[in-house]
Amino acid sequence: MSPAPAAEPHQGLRAGPAADAVRLTRHAVADLHAELVRNGLVAWTSGNVSARVPGTDLIVIKPSGVAYDDLTAEAMVVCDLTGARVGGQLSPSSDTASHAYIYRHMPHVGGVVHTHSRYATAWAARGEPIPCVLTAMADEFGGEIPIGPFAPIGGEEIGQAVVATLSGHRSPAVLLRNHGVFTVGATARDAVKAAVMCEDAACTVHLARLGGQLTPLPPDQIDALYRRYQDEYGQR
Ligand SMILES: [Zn+2]
Repeated sequence: MSPAPAAEPHQGLRAGPAADAVRLTRHAVADLHAELVRNGLVAWTSGNVSARVPGTDLIVIKPSGVAYDDLTAEAMVVCDLTGARVGGQLSPSSDTASHAYIYRHMPHVGGVVHTHSRYATAWAARGEPIPCVLTAMADEFGGEIPIGPFAPIGGEEIGQAVVATLSGHRSPAVLLRNHGVFTVGATARDAVKAAVMCEDAACTVHLARLGGQLTPLPPDQIDALYRRYQDEYGQR
């Protein structure tokens, strides 16, 4: 008996510009996982980063339950926008269906990050949004960091909760009740930055509240700060 023929590789994984984009994205996503560790956002194997592969209908995402030290570019998993694996040897993250849902419903999003970072997840455990009481929050989030509903893990319900909560918000971060943080960005690096800034804000606002009442920023100041940061800040 002759062996069954190998499955035809997905068109994005054959040689050519799409295959090059997949290769670059695998490297970028592997490197960004190290940022989660470096910034103290993850414990053990929790947390994940994904990125849309530019010019394709593919995403690259972390494999499920693999130690951060072992997250090489080769270990990354390539999936289509239904969350089905089309490249890589390992099973994708258990959050893959939710990441795929976000990419399908938010075409401007090029990267998604999920963490259980400590202070932000404490707000999620209380079911409380983080109020906008710092200029850095106005800059990055354009207002409070909203709280979304609880959703079961494994399907696309978390993705639905993220999309529903972020629609109509400027914030690239959402706290999911009793669970943790999801952030989105134009790139995966932007989404990682939002996850870092979310944890920083969650910590500072928590500490501030221990000492007394929080002072909200006026909405017009939040608008002005957000506009300045998004349009003028940094190197242009
Ligand atoms: Zn989680």
